[in-house]
Amino acid sequence: MRPSVLFPLFAETHTLPGIGPKVEKLIARVAGPRLIDLILDLPVGVVDRSYRPRLSEAEPGRIATVKVHVLDHMPSPDRRRPYRVRCSDDTAVLELVFFHGRADYLLKTLPIGQTRIVSGRIERYGNKLQMAHPDHVVAPGEESGLPLHEPVYGLTEDLTPKVMAKAVRGALDKLVPLPEWQDTAWLAARGWTGFHEAMLAAHAPQGDGDVLPTAPNRMRLAYDELLANQLALLLIRAQMRGIRTHGAKGRVLKSAGRLKAKAIAALPFALTQGQTQALAEIEADMAAPARMLRLLQGDVGAGKTVVAFLALLNAVEAGTQGALMAPTEILARQHMASLEPLAKASGITMALLTGRERGPSRDAIVEKLARGEIDIAVGTHALFSDDVAFRDLGLAVVDEQHRFGVHQRMLLQGKGEQNADVLVMTATPIPRTLALTAYGDMDVSRLTGRPPGRKPVETRVLPAARIDDVVASLGRALAKGARAYWVCPLVEESEKIDLAAAEDRAAMLKRVLGSKVGLAHGRMKGPERDAAMADFKAGRTQILVATTVIEVGVDVPEATIMVIEHAERFGLAQLHQLRGRVGRGAEKSSCLLLYQGPLGETAKARLKILRETDDGFVIAEEDLRLRGAGELLGVRQSGLPTFRIADLAVHGELLAAARDDARMILEKDPELKSPRGEALRVLLYLFERDEAVRYLRSG
Ligand code: ADP
Ligand code: MG
Repeated sequence: MRPSVLFPLFAETHTLPGIGPKVEKLIARVAGPRLIDLILDLPVGVVDRSYRPRLSEAEPGRIATVKVHVLDHMPSPDRRRPYRVRCSDDTAVLELVFFHGRADYLLKTLPIGQTRIVSGRIERYGNKLQMAHPDHVVAPGEESGLPLHEPVYGLTEDLTPKVMAKAVRGALDKLVPLPEWQDTAWLAARGWTGFHEAMLAAHAPQGDGDVLPTAPNRMRLAYDELLANQLALLLIRAQMRGIRTHGAKGRVLKSAGRLKAKAIAALPFALTQGQTQALAEIEADMAAPARMLRLLQGDVGAGKTVVAFLALLNAVEAGTQGALMAPTEILARQHMASLEPLAKASGITMALLTGRERGPSRDAIVEKLARGEIDIAVGTHALFSDDVAFRDLGLAVVDEQHRFGVHQRMLLQGKGEQNADVLVMTATPIPRTLALTAYGDMDVSRLTGRPPGRKPVETRVLPAARIDDVVASLGRALAKGARAYWVCPLVEESEKIDLAAAEDRAAMLKRVLGSKVGLAHGRMKGPERDAAMADFKAGRTQILVATTVIEVGVDVPEATIMVIEHAERFGLAQLHQLRGRVGRGAEKSSCLLLYQGPLGETAKARLKILRETDDGFVIAEEDLRLRGAGELLGVRQSGLPTFRIADLAVHGELLAAARDDARMILEKDPELKSPRGEALRVLLYLFERDEAVRYLRSG
């Protein structure tokens, strides 16, 4: 249960004075629905109003605060021209300009003959000084209502800076001092303040330096957020490994490697150095008494499947069963097809179980699994449905293809398969820092490099305006028998429009290039989509128009061309994965990235990286460096954690420190029961790592 000191912070924003349902909705869009969301929504900039020149010396273009005498009002002569108010100090005249200004209101705020302090951007217009729509107008003596340094928040249409700033102030008023969870001496050594002070200061920047991610207050808060993330992952890890509760959970799975030898003998290739190394790491974990929680990270096509299969054979030979779970039906079937010959060669039984196995055939599989007559089950989430029970599951391999977050991993935990070793495979080559925040509960094996024999894919970046040329050259390649993927991105918010665009594109290609065009998208029913994929795989269609990464998850070595529309909308890692779908056969392959211009410098630099390298890890690091973690497109859909304050592109070192800190904290106080531990529980709730706190015995 959330500690009661935090209750007020988790109230909804309409509980603040002056915030009704309409504004609440707007705030929810930029920050979130609750006060804590406002508090964690730090300013993106600061307006400095401390420049107070005499008018004769005022630099045009700067934000200035000036004390003036109101001379007279000049209402707009017609609707096109503005209302003007003439003012002056001793040195010059300043005209305040209001478009659609209302006379009654302006006469009240700027009474003729009175003195007012106005703040806004001063411009020179001909030989006149003017200020259009001053941000603030106050009477002398009311200067407290005119902040000299004003925080700037991210806004949305119709949400004014003033309303937003007021809401944030209201939320901050509810932020009572919390018990300090950081060590005071340690804070002092870093020159950091307490949490409360840091948070208030972060919302009151005094200059541009204060809104940088490297500003001390921001660093302190980022550290808090990263520490919460790492503590949570380590708590989950401890829970899954069972170390805190009753010694090491898990079991010893060791074999002489007879099955492995048979399978390797049946492979048409030799294992690479990297594969051998990864397998050795996995086998060592399996042989150890603690439960294995390992991530096998490797590019698309790096050869992870074989490694996983050999690990599964190790579990089988050790007398247990294995499971290989894929994120989609298609991928499960593909694994089944590619592994069946190896299963035969090694003399084990393997079965497929997905949502599409139903009725008596499903019953038969479930029964055999329970009796231990099936050694390895390949499938989807259906493998872990309530009525499926293994006789003795030794190893669960999860091929997540970037879709299986920490929450899903924890589901495995609740399945009664409490002791099974877990190997997660991911083909998203995410940067090291991001991997630590997403998979910090696991040990990592990295498969770098590729199996021999794969040719690099020639990559070109073209404006969408050149689409006719692309279609023409595609036509020439198809005439020679080539096969091509054509990807149209699907953005969640405009899914309908995008889908229509993909359908139009398929129709256009059909019209121009003949009839052999297939279409596969996520809205299709399983069998329909499988049919489209199968047609493409069998060569009955030559072009496959697809809408997402997953839809092209099929291995078609004959495909040599990949066209991606709106490449600028994809994350680099995603583009890289898509590109990995071609270049799988003997033929030379190409990838055409079509972008909708104009592109900014960063966007250009990003696409250029894809042309220059084929290494997914390099690409991921560069993408993080260029765009920052929050911007990595697809991060939300991928189940990777997102941060409110920490910026992984900048805070890599903080993350490493938070990792070490979290380790030390839990070593000394595994249940977070000390006074500092209690405070850290508050921190975990503050950053909504509730799932981790659940695993602690109450204090
Ligand atoms: P991943 O799952 O990592 O994306 P796969 O396991 O599907 O990659 O492997 C891609 C292709 O490379 C498959 O066709 C596989 O048979 C082949 N392959 C795997 N290991 C090797 C190797 N050592 N030498 C040659 N080809 C390999
Ligand atoms: Mg794979």
